[in-house]
Amino acid sequence: MKGRIHNFNAGPAAHPLPVLKEIQVEFLNFKDSGMSIMEVSHRSRWFEGVIQDAKERVRRLLELDENFHIVFMQGGASMQFCTIPMNLLPDGQSADYVNTGTWATKAIKECTIQGKPAKVVASSEDKGFSYIPGEISFSPDAAYAHITSNNTIKGTQWASFPDTGGVPLVCDMSSDIMSRPFDVSPFGLIYAGAQKNLGPAGATLVIIRDDMLKRVPEDLPTMLKYTTYTGHNSMFNTPPCFAVYTVQLVLKWLEETIGGLDKMEQINREKASLLYRTIDESGFYRGTADEGSRSMMNVTFRLPTEDQEKQFVQQALEHGLSGLKGHRSVGGCRASIYNATSLEGVKVLVDFMGEFARTNG
Ligand SMILES: *Cc1c(COP(=O)(O)O)cnc(C)c1O
Repeated sequence: MKGRIHNFNAGPAAHPLPVLKEIQVEFLNFKDSGMSIMEVSHRSRWFEGVIQDAKERVRRLLELDENFHIVFMQGGASMQFCTIPMNLLPDGQSADYVNTGTWATKAIKECTIQGKPAKVVASSEDKGFSYIPGEISFSPDAAYAHITSNNTIKGTQWASFPDTGGVPLVCDMSSDIMSRPFDVSPFGLIYAGAQKNLGPAGATLVIIRDDMLKRVPEDLPTMLKYTTYTGHNSMFNTPPCFAVYTVQLVLKWLEETIGGLDKMEQINREKASLLYRTIDESGFYRGTADEGSRSMMNVTFRLPTEDQEKQFVQQALEHGLSGLKGHRSVGGCRASIYNATSLEGVKVLVDFMGEFARTNG
């Protein structure tokens, strides 16, 4: 078998190697239970300990006070696109949405197909979603203002969050949660599918401010109500135990090995600036996102021709660099450099990019 490669996949994506090794060590016999974590009851003290520790780590890492509830749901970020308006957008009100790409567009669609008004207060569609809109006027009476903090496909990211004038922010942080510290106080709800920056697919982290729960209508189906999850410690039904366990280990790695979100941001900045510098100074590669809107997580770029892009992806693979093909909807190339992608891996990538540019430019 060949060794492990440098993984630049967009999602599911790289996990920290120490986490994978810890899973391996514990896999057959979790904490002297004589069983795998996949085999124990979700009501057992073993899994209770896992989910409790995961929640405490989320709370510490993001500095969440007691006003915030932390739950794990299923259905991915895509399920949140419909549950958010169902739960948080009362009849007779409308919600503001900022359209910054594919995922935001889908969130808007899931609101409008319920017959609920989604007001698009800003969009970057005019330039192929290559930038984050500035100077947005939010509606003072909006139920919430929805944004996507990092646009995984187009490689743009909010450098700082917009001032909504008190309207609660609702944010899809699927592809940059835990990559940097931020002030949580303007947020009414934050959600993230785990498979980019938190762990395996199957668990979705949702953070909800207490006052938002008062809006949840009584007559929603039980499994689609946020209050079902906050009221039952995410265990009204069987949670995705193995995924939550892995998320817990990733959070432990973030706190104990990396040293928290300030440290994580420093490393992420270093990785991203190395890549963007390589692109900008090459005279060969061309970044696709506007400079002030560039993502620290997904670096999107083009080569002079599509044929060269194909060769680039192919030869990169031969150098042990995987996952560099852009999203099928936009083409080009993309290096996803989430928390678990090491600086060393990025250095190998920029060396390869330099060599490829010299021989093909
Ligand atoms: C990947 C992604 C999604 C979709 O997530 P699923 O868990 O597959 O539903 C939504 N939003 C963003 C920003 C993403 O990166």
